[in-house]
Amino acid sequence: MITSKLKEALICFRAGRVTLRYPFEPSVPPEGFRGQPQLDITKCLGCGACSMACPTRCIEVTNEAEQRRMEYCFDRCSYCGECAEACPEGGITMSSEFELATDSVTDLRTVAYLDLVRCESCGEVVGTAREIDKLAQELATKMNVAADSMPWLRWCARCKRESSLATAQVLQPAEAHL
Ligand code: SF4
Ligand code: SF4
Repeated sequence: MITSKLKEALICFRAGRVTLRYPFEPSVPPEGFRGQPQLDITKCLGCGACSMACPTRCIEVTNEAEQRRMEYCFDRCSYCGECAEACPEGGITMSSEFELATDSVTDLRTVAYLDLVRCESCGEVVGTAREIDKLAQELATKMNVAADSMPWLRWCARCKRESSLATAQVLQPAEAHL
């Protein structure tokens, strides 16, 4: 019995220390580790794709008078990475940060406001100014026109449809004559 215990002790001494010294030394997460999501608000368009993808509803998007309010509640985060996958602008990345203990939930929350564009005809929300500007730039490049030559980008879907119908009705008699 004593011999077997001594043998066990010897094996343990030979093995040396096999545990990490964390938290006395930093623990480096392995490659691919998903820690707290990091938001780069300078890249955010306010499209809300991250909010729709988040299974734990961490990202709340609400429209206020002239601004879209984005609240990122990372205290509810499950570190799944769906928001980073969904973001078309690379505005969210998964960091390796895991030391998130805090006595204040606000440390894990970020609020951002983005300017809204309302329909020039009826006042309905069309999108954020960043979304509309980006779309205008892309269309202008593709169509080789000036970005400010497309005022209809600032109309809501209903007003665009009604405007198209009105234009079609005006054109109809001319087409019949041809
Ligand atoms: S990592 Fe997952 S749970 Fe956390 S904010 Fe992104 S989508 Fe939501
Ligand atoms: S998906 Fe990206 S661009 Fe869209 S609201 Fe989220 S962070 Fe912003």
